[in-house]
Amino acid sequence: MSGNHPHGSALSETDLRVRALETLLVDKGYVDPAALDALIDTYEHRIGPHNGARVVARAWSDPEFRERLRADATAAIGEFGYSGRQGEHMTALFDAPGVHHMVVCTLCSCYPWPVLGLPPSWYKSAPYRSRAVIDPKGVLADFGVTLPEGCEVRVYDSTAELRYLVVPMRPAGTEGWTEAQLATLVTRDAMIGTGLALDPASVEGAR
Ligand code: FE
Repeated sequence: MSGNHPHGSALSETDLRVRALETLLVDKGYVDPAALDALIDTYEHRIGPHNGARVVARAWSDPEFRERLRADATAAIGEFGYSGRQGEHMTALFDAPGVHHMVVCTLCSCYPWPVLGLPPSWYKSAPYRSRAVIDPKGVLADFGVTLPEGCEVRVYDSTAELRYLVVPMRPAGTEGWTEAQLATLVTRDAMIGTGLALDPASVEGAR
């Protein structure tokens, strides 16, 4: 983003502001730098879309888990130990032939952190937040997704009270795959609904 910064600094203005703010907060003793590092490490490495991918892979593999996920997604996701901030009130949306789900937060950027990590910048952008509702198929086309003719797109608006996890359709040709293998097909975008699960042929070596 800051590659063409006219002053030759490697940091963008936002980066500089964040650093200045962090320095100030640490200097004044409001935050402990070790706690900040732990928090950032948590969201960069421990919490991320790989969590949600494990949930989806199990929903594909285990019909009883799928039903629990449908009945009470917060509790079913909690079976993996994924819980906490921004994951308190989860609902799973199951794609099916003829029905595709897409998630947006039209007001701000509500997002299921425990299963997907931090939201991508486009999710927080005004164009996505408005167009996802007005022209969901146009947004999908921008993401390179073409749905079958006549497929309905259902757009769900996240709120502070409700967060969604899309369970995309299990790709054909994955019979006999283990949950770990299946999870490699589940992308972040597939769980937001701006993508589909990957074609098994595209992840050669996952088996
Ligand atoms: Fe929001």
